[in-house]
Parts: sequence; C-alpha cells; structure tokens
Amino acid sequence: MRVKAHKFPGVYVFIDEDGSEKIATKNLVPGQKVYGERLIKAEGEEYRIWNPSRSKLGAAILNGLKNFPIKPGSTVLYLGIASGTTASHVSDIVDWEGKVFGVEFSPRVLRELVPLVEERRNIVPILGDATKPEGYRALVPKVDVIFEDVAQPTQAKILIDNAKVYLKSGGYGMISVKSRSIDVTKEPEQVFKEVEKELSTYFEVVERLSLEPYEKDHALFVVRKP
Ligand code: SAM
Repeated sequence: MRVKAHKFPGVYVFIDEDGSEKIATKNLVPGQKVYGERLIKAEGEEYRIWNPSRSKLGAAILNGLKNFPIKPGSTVLYLGIASGTTASHVSDIVDWEGKVFGVEFSPRVLRELVPLVEERRNIVPILGDATKPEGYRALVPKVDVIFEDVAQPTQAKILIDNAKVYLKSGGYGMISVKSRSIDVTKEPEQVFKEVEKELSTYFEVVERLSLEPYEKDHALFVVRKP
C-alpha cells in the first residue's frame, strides 16, 4: 500500500517509490492542482502531496506537531489566506462537512483564489483586514479553529482580537510567527518568548514548534481558548 493514514484525521502518509515518506491530503476536487503540487492515485482515490517548503502548516506536521485541532467537519477562520496554498489542504481535511472562511486584505492576491473556490466550495473568500475583525462579522460564524499566517508585527493581538469575536470556548488558535516581522533587532528566541507571553494573557498555550529547516526563524504556536 502506498498511502496510509497519518495520526491526524484527514492527513495521509504517502510512501514514494524511493521509500521516502511524504504527507498528503485527499483531493476534494479530483484533477484540481492548486500550487503545482504532485497528484497521486492510490486505491481509487486522488491525493495531493503537501509540500512543507510551501506551507508552514505542512512543515509543522512534518516537524512532529503534537496538537492538530483541524479535523474533518471543522469550521476554520483562516487569516491571511493569500492564494490558498495551505488553505487548500485545510479544505481537503475539513471536507464538505467543514468550512474555511479565508480573510485576505490584498485584492490582487484574493483574485488568484477565486478560480480555486469555484469548485472548492468549502472555502469562503473574504476581502477583509484581520486587524478589524468586526468587518467580516456578517460572513463568519463562531468557529472551531482560527489559523493565522499574516506576517505582521501585531500578529498575537490579531489572533486574540479575532478569537474574542469568532472562536468557540474550548476552540483552538494556530499561529505562524516570523520573528523578523515582529522585530528584526531581537534574537528570534526573545521574540517567541514575548509572543508566548502575550498569547498567554488570553489563551492557554498548548504547544510551540520550530518550523526550521523549512522556514528560518519561524515558530508555530497552538493555543486554546479556555
Ligand atoms: N497562509 C498562506 C499559505 O500558506 O498559503 C500564506 C500567507 S502570506 C505569508 C501572508 C498573507 O497575509 C499575505 O497574502 C498578506 O496579504 C496577508 N495579510 C497580511 N496582513 C493582513 C491583514 N491585516 N489582514 C488580512 N490579510 C493580511
């Protein structure tokens, strides 16, 4: 068998011809490629190989992430969806029972997402500014998970502000932090400690994981709203 289930529901492990293992998701829209990723067929299903060099969430899973709250059926608010590289794998995982509400403030970038969501209808693209969560209130319900990848200096505050409006109690936040987006003059470890401290004013910090070697000076935090 070339594909087996990963410990996280909705994620799969593909064993390549050279014996190496890669992560993958089951393609919700068979035939659709999103970012030039490899499509493979196994046992009548089509899978998309998840490239960790193009997706911080993919890098986190390969680096041994312990807590992955995104599951089949989850509703996810995705801040900084860009053209949908990572969000497409999230869309595969949550499946047709789940939904991904994707906020992006660049109209040019969001336009690239539009052809993708014509078929991948569990993604709802939203032109909005994640620093102003009230702006998309009419479109987004309470969600199970907020995933944030905006590379902004105030990213911890952005997660807290969105969680206050949209995250269910007991729900999870996942945030990719690029230390140089916050403060280029400080050591990454110092920046991560400060982000952790700020996140812990509102959340329980469940996990922190380095994204090296895939992304330099990046960490991913998993937090839980009490
Ligand atoms: N998460 C994407 C992926 O893995 O496919 C990549 C996201 S990219 C690093 C960051 C994105 O966040 C950019 O597309 C940028 O335009 C967007 N962004 C930055 N600040 C934002 C804000 N305040 N509100 C919404 N989007 C924002």
